[in-house]
Amino acid sequence: MKLMPESFRTRLVLLCGGLGLLIGLPAYLYINHVYAQRLLDDRGEALHEQAVAVAAVIAENLNERRREVELLSRTPLFRQAPLDSVEFQPSLERLQKSYPAYSWIGLSDVDGVVRASTAGLLMGADVSQRPWYTGGRKGPHLGDVHDALLLSRLLKPEPDGAPIRFIDFSVPVYDDSGRLRGVLGAHAHWRWAGEVLQVLKPREAEKLGLEFLIVNRQGRVIHPERDALTLPLAERLQARRFVIDRWGSQTDYVTALAPVREVVPEAPLGWQVVVRQPLDTLTADVAELRRAVLLFSLLAGGTLCLLAWWAAGRLSQPLEYLALQARRIEKGDESADLAIPGSTREVVHLGAALRSMAATLIHRREALEASNRDLEARVAERTAELARLNDELRDQARRDALTGLPNRLAANERLRGEFVRMKRMRSAYAVLVLDIDYFKRINDGHGHAAGDAVLRHVSAVLRGALRETDFVARFGGEEFLILLPATPLTDAAAVGEKVRTAVENSPTEAVGMVTLSIGLAMADPAHQDEDVAVRAADALLYQAKSAGRNRLVAPKAA
Ligand code: GH3
Ligand code: MG
Ligand code: MG
Repeated sequence: MKLMPESFRTRLVLLCGGLGLLIGLPAYLYINHVYAQRLLDDRGEALHEQAVAVAAVIAENLNERRREVELLSRTPLFRQAPLDSVEFQPSLERLQKSYPAYSWIGLSDVDGVVRASTAGLLMGADVSQRPWYTGGRKGPHLGDVHDALLLSRLLKPEPDGAPIRFIDFSVPVYDDSGRLRGVLGAHAHWRWAGEVLQVLKPREAEKLGLEFLIVNRQGRVIHPERDALTLPLAERLQARRFVIDRWGSQTDYVTALAPVREVVPEAPLGWQVVVRQPLDTLTADVAELRRAVLLFSLLAGGTLCLLAWWAAGRLSQPLEYLALQARRIEKGDESADLAIPGSTREVVHLGAALRSMAATLIHRREALEASNRDLEARVAERTAELARLNDELRDQARRDALTGLPNRLAANERLRGEFVRMKRMRSAYAVLVLDIDYFKRINDGHGHAAGDAVLRHVSAVLRGALRETDFVARFGGEEFLILLPATPLTDAAAVGEKVRTAVENSPTEAVGMVTLSIGLAMADPAHQDEDVAVRAADALLYQAKSAGRNRLVAPKAA
């Protein structure tokens, strides 16, 4: 498998896609880890600050209620007036009016019997067992949230039928000499807590899923009122300002808490304000950002890839064009143009280099072709010369150097040819074997040169006496052979006689008259080969010598 694709364009696109990923990935990882953690920390801190603020406001509000009740208990009316004074009820009702959350305010005597109250409710009732009374006897008292007991039947019921719940504020009432006269107590409707929180809740609380809770010392949620939700918070939150836990519900929460300052340190409430937000509303932000970055990375990568595709096309186009033109030149098309106007400098340089290389190659090829042509001409010339020399050699091999007549080799070839033709054409030929008489004597008497001269002379006479179509050769020392194609015996004998008389009648300068003896034979298709006729002629030549020389001996005519 190839690791990298071949095309320049695909490589560039892959590179840009990879770069896009390389740039997008760190951002993605940053958001996923660092940013998400930072967001969580920031949010946890913000929730904690909100919890602290709410706790402070609640403490302040509680403190105000306590002070109101305390101040009222110290007025001259409460210190001095007899407990059955009609002044008490209007005084209590003024306080109630000033703060609508007060459901009931009353004054009991030291024995726990109600002597004055708002709207005259519970007048004469025995409250000696109620915590607000027992607590308020000893000093300022703040009672934790509890269901209304005695008043539940007397007050207007809640719209949803839920039990009416109160928190209590009570203080002892002393006379001027500091003797306990009774207890002043106020029940504030627990609705009060909801109203305080409502004012403090940020506007986007609903959207963010923010919850503001008040939890008592046991960890039970006392506001908003719900079914016995308990948050075992204190120990987990001691070290940190916020934690992530689901506290028994379906989703994880970022939870922060702040203690409510104790308004009556002698009777601490142990309240805590809890502010929490579902974790997924936070992570939703991160997820959205992550999606945005992912989308952006993909878009950027895609755009880069498209750009790279386009740019690679622009870059490779002139190269493809150069390759095409180079291939045309390779095929011999010399009109191909390697100049690309308006291209990059590198491509122009490449084109120029290719052009000069092509020119060099073309020049070399032409030079090579010219030298090839030259060489071929020279080879042809030499071959012709050789053929001519061969012919000459063949000719020389078949020619007698002394007389210029065909020699024995040529005679044998001619005899062979004529014999074959006779077999085919059935036209008999005549063979004459001629020998100079007493030639030895010429050599001996006049010298070898004179003998040679005689041989040349006889040759010339023979050639002159014969037709062009007749064949004459020097067959041996002073022996000649004449072949007469398609010649019958009588005609052949006449030719033999003619040459014999011609030699006899043409004396030589050196030695005078020379004569010939001749044997004549007819070749016959019945002969085994061409030598049969030659041997027969030779035999008759011998007869001519025996018979006295200077004569022709032919076979008897049939
Ligand atoms: P005959 O009449 O019986 O033919 O007698 P002859 O003397 O011609 O017989 P022979 O065949 O014995 O002698 C032939 C001589 O011819 C012998 C040789 O010295 C001579 N001879 C052969 N070839 C040449 C040649 O090329 N030049 C010369 N000068 N002499 C030659
Ligand atoms: Mg001889
Ligand atoms: Mg002889």
